[in-house]
Amino acid sequence: MARVYNFNAGPAVLPLEVLEEARDQFVEYKSSGMSLMESSHRGKEYDAVHSEALANYRKLFNCSDDYAICFIAGGASMQFAMIPLNLLGAGQTADYVNSGAWASKAAKEAQLIGKVNIAANTGKDIPTKVPAARDLKLTKGAAYVHITSNETISGAQWKTFPKTESPLVADMSSDILSRPFEIGQFALVYAGAQKNLGPSGIALVVMRKDLAERAPANLPTILKYKTFIEENSLYNTPPCFSIYIMMLVSRWLLKNGLENIHRRNREKAAKIYAAIDAGFYKGTAVPECRSDMNITFRLPSEALEEQFVKEASKQGLKGLKGHRSVGGIRASVYNALPPEGVDALVCFMRDFARQNG
Ligand code: PMP
Repeated sequence: MARVYNFNAGPAVLPLEVLEEARDQFVEYKSSGMSLMESSHRGKEYDAVHSEALANYRKLFNCSDDYAICFIAGGASMQFAMIPLNLLGAGQTADYVNSGAWASKAAKEAQLIGKVNIAANTGKDIPTKVPAARDLKLTKGAAYVHITSNETISGAQWKTFPKTESPLVADMSSDILSRPFEIGQFALVYAGAQKNLGPSGIALVVMRKDLAERAPANLPTILKYKTFIEENSLYNTPPCFSIYIMMLVSRWLLKNGLENIHRRNREKAAKIYAAIDAGFYKGTAVPECRSDMNITFRLPSEALEEQFVKEASKQGLKGLKGHRSVGGIRASVYNALPPEGVDALVCFMRDFARQNG
């Protein structure tokens, strides 16, 4: 087996031990005579998986009973719609902070449903950044304030979160559980699973239960947060296998500890930023907003960027091409990307600069 170092932005690298455990249980799950994929979502095997996933994520977010954990199909994009559908009442305004491509997509969805105030806009700034909390023009009595904790494409990350009077909602798709944080400052956080949590097509939602009461009565049942909360994310047949992988990842996170994971993430990111700052490369985000998850940089020319991606790939360093909308290089170094992968990348960056600088 030759696993590469996978710098993909998402779907992205998963912990090897998670994949191995899933492989070992793939055809026959825990002596049940069938795969978990073939098992009833109301049966005892899946029930144990589902309950452990809910309990582990509750532990990881250290949240009180005022919060619910939900697994909702449709990824983060479904949340772009569900949030305003449930929380943005008629005549109300929602504040959206536009910090880049993903924040902008979230705001556009909300505009289809209700009134949106763009509280700040750094979406097209180069170098890329998130706004300063003091620059937010918030609406008094806003239904909620939406931020994107980490812009996956531009590589800009909130380092501390703004304090807002209205409920704070965060798209944490690309940095969820990469660092400890106080869930109490948020009314709702959500993340598409395919970066730090598991397979694509599903979102983890952690939300204050009282917010779910806001949904209009005629909102379809499957779109109401209240349904997911009351039915423990088992109203419909959930994406059982994806939740199983997310459960295994939650075990891995608990075993490693969020503080350790955070320290490791910072060390990994610091090594790559040091290689960038050594010259030849140019970081894309302003230093105080540099993401620890998606590290974006440019080379002196697009031709060199293409060559960089090609040569890196030959050395088993995959997925370094920047998003097609912005170009450049992006190294996504999520929780499961091993430090050895970062060392190999840094080595490659030094050699490449020496040969082409
Ligand atoms: N938000 C952010 C920050 C993302 O990075 C992504 C996907 N890359 C999304 C939302 C959309 O996620 P999904 O494809 O799961 O809908």
